[in-house]
Amino acid sequence: MSELHIKKLVVASHNQGKIDEITEMLRPFDIEVLSAKALNLPDVEETGTTFKENAELKAVQLSEICGLPCLADDSGLCVDALGGRPGVYSARYAPNRDFDKAMQMLIAELRDCGASDWSAHFSCVLALKIPERECLFFEGRVDGKIVSERSGTNGFGFDPIFQPDGFDKTFANFTSEEKSKISHRGRAFQKFIAALS
Ligand code: IMP
Repeated sequence: MSELHIKKLVVASHNQGKIDEITEMLRPFDIEVLSAKALNLPDVEETGTTFKENAELKAVQLSEICGLPCLADDSGLCVDALGGRPGVYSARYAPNRDFDKAMQMLIAELRDCGASDWSAHFSCVLALKIPERECLFFEGRVDGKIVSERSGTNGFGFDPIFQPDGFDKTFANFTSEEKSKISHRGRAFQKFIAALS
Protein backbone atom coordinates (compact mmCIF):
# COMPACT_ATOMS: atom_id res chain seq x y z
CA MET A 1 0.00 0.00 0.00
CA SER A 2 2.88 2.32 0.50
CA GLU A 3 6.27 3.63 -0.34
CA LEU A 4 7.42 1.99 2.88
CA HIS A 5 5.78 -1.33 1.92
CA ILE A 6 4.85 -2.39 5.42
CA LYS A 7 2.70 -5.51 5.53
CA LYS A 8 3.47 -6.59 9.08
CA LEU A 9 4.28 -4.26 11.97
CA VAL A 10 5.30 -5.00 15.54
CA VAL A 11 4.16 -2.44 18.09
CA ALA A 12 7.22 -2.34 20.34
CA SER A 13 5.38 -2.02 23.64
CA HIS A 14 4.13 -3.97 26.64
CA ASN A 15 1.75 -1.17 27.64
CA GLN A 16 -1.71 -2.48 26.75
CA GLY A 17 -3.19 1.04 26.66
CA LYS A 18 -0.70 2.13 24.01
CA ILE A 19 -1.01 -1.14 22.06
CA ASP A 20 -4.80 -0.74 21.93
CA GLU A 21 -4.63 2.87 20.74
CA ILE A 22 -2.02 2.15 18.06
CA THR A 23 -3.81 -1.01 16.86
CA GLU A 24 -7.02 1.00 16.57
CA MET A 25 -5.28 3.75 14.58
CA LEU A 26 -3.80 1.15 12.20
CA ARG A 27 -7.13 -0.59 11.64
CA PRO A 28 -8.00 1.20 8.35
CA PHE A 29 -4.71 0.10 6.78
CA ASP A 30 -3.79 -3.19 5.23
CA ILE A 31 -1.15 -4.00 7.84
CA GLU A 32 -0.97 -7.00 10.13
CA VAL A 33 -0.34 -5.63 13.62
CA LEU A 34 1.50 -7.66 16.25
CA SER A 35 2.71 -6.50 19.64
CA ALA A 36 5.93 -7.09 21.54
CA LYS A 37 3.74 -8.28 24.40
CA ALA A 38 1.93 -10.89 22.30
CA LEU A 39 5.22 -12.06 20.74
CA ASN A 40 6.84 -12.35 24.18
CA LEU A 41 9.64 -10.02 23.12
CA PRO A 42 11.66 -8.58 26.02
CA ASP A 43 10.91 -5.25 27.65
CA VAL A 44 13.70 -2.92 26.47
CA GLU A 45 15.40 -0.93 29.21
CA GLU A 46 14.77 2.79 28.66
CA THR A 47 18.25 4.20 29.29
CA GLY A 48 17.82 7.32 27.14
CA THR A 49 17.19 10.80 28.49
CA THR A 50 14.80 11.92 25.73
CA PHE A 51 11.61 10.51 24.24
CA LYS A 52 13.40 10.19 20.90
CA GLU A 53 16.34 8.21 22.33
CA ASN A 54 14.05 5.79 24.15
CA ALA A 55 11.74 5.33 21.16
CA GLU A 56 14.77 4.55 18.98
CA LEU A 57 16.18 2.09 21.54
CA LYS A 58 12.91 0.15 21.65
CA ALA A 59 12.31 0.11 17.88
CA VAL A 60 15.88 -0.79 16.92
CA GLN A 61 16.46 -3.49 19.57
CA LEU A 62 13.15 -5.26 19.00
CA SER A 63 13.48 -5.08 15.22
CA GLU A 64 16.92 -6.71 15.51
CA ILE A 65 15.45 -9.51 17.62
CA CYS A 66 12.36 -10.27 15.53
CA GLY A 67 13.56 -9.17 12.07
CA LEU A 68 10.31 -7.28 11.39
CA PRO A 69 9.43 -3.59 11.08
CA CYS A 70 8.90 -2.21 14.59
CA LEU A 71 7.04 0.88 15.69
CA ALA A 72 7.92 2.15 19.16
CA ASP A 73 6.20 4.92 21.10
CA ASP A 74 7.93 6.79 23.86
CA SER A 75 5.71 9.29 25.55
CA GLY A 76 5.05 11.06 28.79
CA LEU A 77 3.41 13.82 30.75
CA CYS A 78 5.35 17.07 31.24
CA VAL A 79 4.04 19.40 33.95
CA ASP A 80 5.22 23.02 33.73
CA ALA A 81 5.14 23.75 37.49
CA LEU A 82 7.29 20.65 38.08
CA GLY A 83 9.93 21.72 35.57
CA GLY A 84 8.64 19.29 32.95
CA ARG A 85 8.54 16.23 35.23
CA PRO A 86 7.72 13.37 35.17
CA GLY A 87 8.44 13.66 31.41
CA VAL A 88 10.54 10.85 30.09
CA TYR A 89 10.22 9.11 33.48
CA SER A 90 6.38 9.08 33.45
CA ALA A 91 6.04 5.28 33.41
CA ARG A 92 8.47 4.99 36.34
CA TYR A 93 6.70 7.75 38.35
CA ALA A 94 3.97 5.20 39.14
CA PRO A 95 5.05 2.92 42.00
CA ASN A 96 4.62 -0.66 40.68
CA ARG A 97 2.75 0.85 37.71
CA ASP A 98 -0.05 1.90 40.07
CA PHE A 99 -1.46 4.94 38.25
CA ASP A 100 -4.10 5.64 40.91
CA LYS A 101 -1.22 6.21 43.29
CA ALA A 102 0.77 8.13 40.65
CA MET A 103 -2.12 10.53 40.05
CA GLN A 104 -2.51 11.10 43.81
CA MET A 105 1.23 11.76 44.09
CA LEU A 106 1.23 14.21 41.18
CA ILE A 107 -1.70 16.20 42.56
CA ALA A 108 -0.04 16.23 46.01
CA GLU A 109 3.20 17.52 44.46
CA LEU A 110 1.34 20.32 42.67
CA ARG A 111 -0.52 21.29 45.84
CA ASP A 112 2.72 21.22 47.85
CA CYS A 113 4.60 23.47 45.47
CA GLY A 114 1.79 26.04 45.64
CA ALA A 115 1.60 26.57 41.88
CA SER A 116 -1.69 28.03 40.66
CA ASP A 117 -0.92 27.19 37.04
CA TRP A 118 -1.25 23.44 36.43
CA SER A 119 -0.44 23.57 32.69
CA ALA A 120 0.96 20.37 31.23
CA HIS A 121 1.42 18.61 27.94
CA PHE A 122 1.79 15.07 26.70
CA SER A 123 4.60 14.38 24.23
CA CYS A 124 5.05 11.38 22.00
CA VAL A 125 7.81 10.26 19.67
CA LEU A 126 7.13 7.32 17.38
CA ALA A 127 10.20 5.53 16.01
CA LEU A 128 9.80 3.26 13.00
CA LYS A 129 12.62 0.80 12.35
CA ILE A 130 12.43 -1.26 9.21
CA PRO A 131 15.28 -3.80 8.93
CA GLU A 132 18.14 -2.45 6.76
CA ARG A 133 16.71 1.08 6.81
CA GLU A 134 17.35 4.19 8.87
CA CYS A 135 15.06 4.74 11.82
CA LEU A 136 12.30 7.31 11.10
CA PHE A 137 10.75 9.56 13.75
CA PHE A 138 7.32 11.21 14.08
CA GLU A 139 6.48 13.58 16.93
CA GLY A 140 3.25 14.83 18.49
CA ARG A 141 2.20 16.94 21.43
CA VAL A 142 -1.04 17.99 23.10
CA ASP A 143 -1.29 20.90 25.55
CA GLY A 144 -3.66 21.08 28.47
CA LYS A 145 -3.74 21.11 32.24
CA ILE A 146 -3.88 18.83 35.26
CA VAL A 147 -7.20 18.81 37.13
CA SER A 148 -7.44 18.11 40.85
CA GLU A 149 -10.35 15.63 40.60
CA ARG A 150 -10.00 12.43 38.63
CA SER A 151 -12.73 11.96 36.05
CA GLY A 152 -13.55 9.24 33.51
CA THR A 153 -12.65 5.61 33.06
CA ASN A 154 -11.40 5.41 29.46
CA GLY A 155 -7.78 5.43 28.34
CA PHE A 156 -4.83 4.70 30.60
CA GLY A 157 -2.07 6.27 32.68
CA PHE A 158 -2.70 9.91 33.58
CA ASP A 159 -5.79 10.29 31.34
CA PRO A 160 -8.25 10.85 34.26
CA ILE A 161 -6.42 14.02 35.39
CA PHE A 162 -5.40 15.51 32.01
CA GLN A 163 -7.75 17.99 30.37
CA PRO A 164 -6.69 19.05 26.86
CA ASP A 165 -6.97 22.73 25.91
CA GLY A 166 -10.33 23.62 24.36
CA PHE A 167 -12.25 20.87 26.20
CA ASP A 168 -13.94 20.72 29.57
CA LYS A 169 -13.41 17.00 30.10
CA THR A 170 -10.40 14.81 30.76
CA PHE A 171 -8.93 12.37 28.25
CA ALA A 172 -10.51 9.56 30.27
CA ASN A 173 -13.92 10.88 29.13
CA PHE A 174 -12.95 10.72 25.44
CA THR A 175 -13.58 7.67 23.29
CA SER A 176 -10.41 6.19 21.86
CA GLU A 177 -11.31 7.62 18.43
CA GLU A 178 -11.93 11.13 19.83
CA LYS A 179 -8.70 11.03 21.82
CA SER A 180 -6.64 9.95 18.81
CA LYS A 181 -7.81 12.98 16.78
CA ILE A 182 -6.04 15.41 19.11
CA SER A 183 -3.69 13.42 21.31
CA HIS A 184 0.10 13.50 21.23
CA ARG A 185 0.07 9.89 19.96
CA GLY A 186 -2.65 10.60 17.40
CA ARG A 187 -0.75 13.62 16.06
CA ALA A 188 2.51 11.67 15.78
CA PHE A 189 0.56 8.88 14.13
CA GLN A 190 -0.96 11.21 11.53
CA LYS A 191 2.62 12.07 10.45
CA PHE A 192 3.51 8.36 10.33
CA ILE A 193 0.48 7.67 8.11
CA ALA A 194 1.41 10.57 5.84
CA ALA A 195 4.85 8.96 5.36
CA LEU A 196 3.18 5.67 4.44
CA SER A 197 0.95 7.10 1.77
P1 IMP B 1 6.80 4.85 28.19
O1 IMP B 1 6.66 5.62 26.90
O2 IMP B 1 6.55 3.41 28.03
O3 IMP B 1 8.06 5.20 28.91
O4 IMP B 1 5.62 5.30 29.15
C1 IMP B 1 4.83 6.39 28.92
C2 IMP B 1 4.09 6.77 30.19
O5 IMP B 1 3.60 8.11 29.99
C3 IMP B 1 2.86 5.92 30.46
O6 IMP B 1 3.13 4.87 31.34
C4 IMP B 1 1.91 6.93 31.07
O7 IMP B 1 2.26 7.15 32.39
C5 IMP B 1 2.26 8.23 30.36
N1 IMP B 1 1.45 8.40 29.15
C6 IMP B 1 1.91 8.41 27.86
N2 IMP B 1 0.89 8.58 27.00
C7 IMP B 1 -0.21 8.68 27.75
C8 IMP B 1 -1.58 8.84 27.40
O8 IMP B 1 -2.00 8.90 26.24
N3 IMP B 1 -2.43 8.91 28.45
C9 IMP B 1 -2.04 8.84 29.75
N4 IMP B 1 -0.79 8.65 30.12
C10 IMP B 1 0.14 8.57 29.11
